Amino acid sequence: MSDNSGLKPAKILSIANQKGGVGKTTTAINLGTALAAVGKRVLLMDLDPQGNASTGLGIDPSKRSMTMYDVLVDQTPINEAIIRTNVPNLFLMPSSVDLSSADVELVDDQRRVLRLRGALEELSTFEDEFDYVLIDCPPSLNLLTLNALAASQSVIVPLQAEFFALEGLSQLMLTIREVRQSLNAILKIEGIVLTMFDGRNNLSLQVEQDVRENLGDLVYKTVVPRNVRLSEAPSFGMPAILYDHKSRGSIAYQKLAAEFLRRENRRVAEAT
Ligand code: ADP
Ligand code: MG
Repeated sequence: MSDNSGLKPAKILSIANQKGGVGKTTTAINLGTALAAVGKRVLLMDLDPQGNASTGLGIDPSKRSMTMYDVLVDQTPINEAIIRTNVPNLFLMPSSVDLSSADVELVDDQRRVLRLRGALEELSTFEDEFDYVLIDCPPSLNLLTLNALAASQSVIVPLQAEFFALEGLSQLMLTIREVRQSLNAILKIEGIVLTMFDGRNNLSLQVEQDVRENLGDLVYKTVVPRNVRLSEAPSFGMPAILYDHKSRGSIAYQKLAAEFLRRENRRVAEAT
């Protein structure tokens, strides 16, 4: 990424898991909000044709004039599609249903998997510099997700604390390894976050133990509990952190943001 402004380029992270309903969008919205709340400038890219992140931030389809579709398919400059949200420092690149046909429309482009990376290269010259770009991926390992992985420095994987959690993860790990070999050598796993955790449920506890034994330090210490406020907030078009900042779910995402930033600082310290 060219950096002619003297500012640090944004760190680009995919929030991915090919399973639906594991908390990707909830994590994108609330981690993004928590980072914005401590002064980081965050761009949330909604890469799911369902547009849940866009709706959850109160941007309904009528307000989405330019979307991720225009950026990927028509190569509309990225800054024309970015919109402000009600959260200071949090910006959104909205999605729309036509994104679901992007793979068909791009079929003749040999470099279709690098479309998003190309689009993001403009960000470094965009007047509003971002600290983080969070890409909310669709629930599949399709062209859209591959575009996200090819454009990212790292991946955050939300993992629902349930029986088959680890099985689904191996498929994702394999894809990440393939992307690293063919498209994006620097791609890392940023961290794995357990979501919808129920501490009274033995299965949740067993899954947590398994996941920590298998994946060690990749797993965030912070665990996101199952919390009804997290599921109610999107219908009000608000991050849970605004809807009810004292709820257990909101507190967990604020802790996750702090842990994410601590890890980042540690990495910088180790590299210098
Ligand atoms: P994904 O983006 O992976 O499909 P979502 O973030 O949309 O998953 O979550 C799926 C559903 O579960 C949504 O209705 C969401 O509101 C709800 N949900 C997500 N995380 C939690 C949680 N920690 N507690 C309770 N409900 C949650
Ligand atoms: Mg989602």
